[in-house]
Amino acid sequence: MRKPVIAVDGFSSTGKSSISKIIAKNLNLVHLDTGSLYRALTYYALKNCLNSNKEIDLNLLFKDFPKIEITFKEENNELKLYLNGEKMSQKIRQLKVNNHVSFIAKQPEVRDFLLDLQRNIAKKGGVIMDGRDIGTFILPHADFKFFLTASVEERSKRRLKELQNSGIETDEKTVRENLIKRDKIDSERETSPLKQAEDAILIDNTFLTKEETIALILTYIN
Ligand code: C5P
Repeated sequence: MRKPVIAVDGFSSTGKSSISKIIAKNLNLVHLDTGSLYRALTYYALKNCLNSNKEIDLNLLFKDFPKIEITFKEENNELKLYLNGEKMSQKIRQLKVNNHVSFIAKQPEVRDFLLDLQRNIAKKGGVIMDGRDIGTFILPHADFKFFLTASVEERSKRRLKELQNSGIETDEKTVRENLIKRDKIDSERETSPLKQAEDAILIDNTFLTKEETIALILTYIN
């Protein structure tokens, strides 16, 4: 039997990735956190594509696309991302990357560059992908689509805790402003904006724990 393709979209810090990761283990699927793709390109641009004012020069990034090789290694049902052989783990979670990623992600050239890569991963089925445009654009025929949301207050708290746990020093105001700004750019961009697919199941998990959200999603799938 063909394994399902599941799309999980939604706002920043609604737990999409950590929830998808556990569902992947539970159903023996492969999980791809597509945010890591946009984060990796942002990390690359911040390192290699700055102009003399230390700002990202998009033309330098686009010119480098043929040189950028993105590969994956599967570890515990997770597709771990490598950019030109370098593992992209915690370094793509830095505040600097957070602050620039939505600007990079709204560029049609960037979305185009990452399109086939994402679709190819889903071709054989057995995948759960989380992001912003998976159900609407990347995998419109996914077997199951979920759209996660939660209040800004709750999401800021969650993101702050996550950053602090990984040793990054910041405060709630900074985190909250970054979330609001990213959601705005992501929702208002012209190319595949963040929005709920018509056939996606909406889950507001403001008052749900991670475990409760997972259980709810599994009841729909099973
Ligand atoms: O999911 P995460 O917060 O790591 O995503 C980082 C950013 O990458 C988002 O704010 C958004 O700008 C971009 N993104 C996107 N499309 C996706 C996944 C992420 O535009 N499918």
